[in-house]
Amino acid sequence: MLLFEHKKDLQSYKAQSPIQKEIFYLTEITFQKLQRTTPTTLSSSELSSVVSRTDLDRMWQKDLKPMLVVRYPGSTGSQHVQQHIKSTLGSMNTGWEVTEDAFYAHTPYSQLPFTNIIATLNPAAKRQLVLACHFDSKYYPPQWDGREFLGATDSAVPCSMILELARAQDDDLKTLKDSGSDLSLQLFFFDGEEALYQWTSEDSLYGSRHLAHKMSTTAHPPEATNTSQLDGIDLFVLLDLIGGPNPRFGNQFSSTTRWLSRLQKIERRLHALGHLKNHPNEVQYFWPGLHVGLILDDHVPFLNQGVRILHLISTPFPEVWHTFDDNEENLDRISISNLNKILQVFVLEYLNKKSQNPIAEGS
Ligand SMILES: [Zn+2]
Repeated sequence: MLLFEHKKDLQSYKAQSPIQKEIFYLTEITFQKLQRTTPTTLSSSELSSVVSRTDLDRMWQKDLKPMLVVRYPGSTGSQHVQQHIKSTLGSMNTGWEVTEDAFYAHTPYSQLPFTNIIATLNPAAKRQLVLACHFDSKYYPPQWDGREFLGATDSAVPCSMILELARAQDDDLKTLKDSGSDLSLQLFFFDGEEALYQWTSEDSLYGSRHLAHKMSTTAHPPEATNTSQLDGIDLFVLLDLIGGPNPRFGNQFSSTTRWLSRLQKIERRLHALGHLKNHPNEVQYFWPGLHVGLILDDHVPFLNQGVRILHLISTPFPEVWHTFDDNEENLDRISISNLNKILQVFVLEYLNKKSQNPIAEGS
């Protein structure tokens, strides 16, 4: 398993000072726990409570509408969207630590500014479940008919889903933070996922390449000598191209089949409880048995360094992908609402968070 390439072998362990041995021991513990992340299974009443807290109309007004602007790197729209993400997370009770990873990079046009936004529930936690999306929109030159590329599925909806999760589950996340749990939640909003001109290894993934490198060179825990922040990522869940009708999520990585199966199980449970609308079959979305080839996206710089990835991207891509029709009109509200419910249950169960104030069974 790639993750274990970071570990020192026994011989170098023996050569270490007592302090290093202690750190090594802590690292061992971290990796052992990593191997056996055991999610909670929420009861039916707890599921109802979690699901009842998410509100699609609220997400639409508060998150999606402000994001549906032209927001390529360095644009005014990008500034507004960054401000929106930061102020939204800053308004929660949870007390997210919000930081920026800002840098300049050469692009086919010119040197441009890029800013990733990172929100961390508990920076001291040993392990982090990461939810990630990209907030930039693909750059298109001005069109003769005035149409603009707004990237509704790509990726205004995924970013809005993450913000709505933080808002809907604010109280539970605050309790989790206050508990000082070893496992916590981190949100990445990447800039510059899109190629500015044409996709190459240089002209794409500007933000995720920068952050993966930065995290790989930042010790975690801070006193560690042989583990970085990347080692602290328990699972990296990337949301992209979500919001079109009939989304299906296939399997790219056998190392995380278990988690895709878990999403499917949650889908079945919510279906059985009648929480999913316009959902005729018990499984519509999550297909661990559907194998999909590797798709280049923001997870790649993390994957290349051994991070475990769950890539939630619709396959096939939405019909409107990279066209001017990728707009609000063509979004499928009901499947977005259903996916919000499934994702929020997944995250709370992953974090072993029993829901607060469950609604009484049958109410
Ligand atoms: Zn795109």
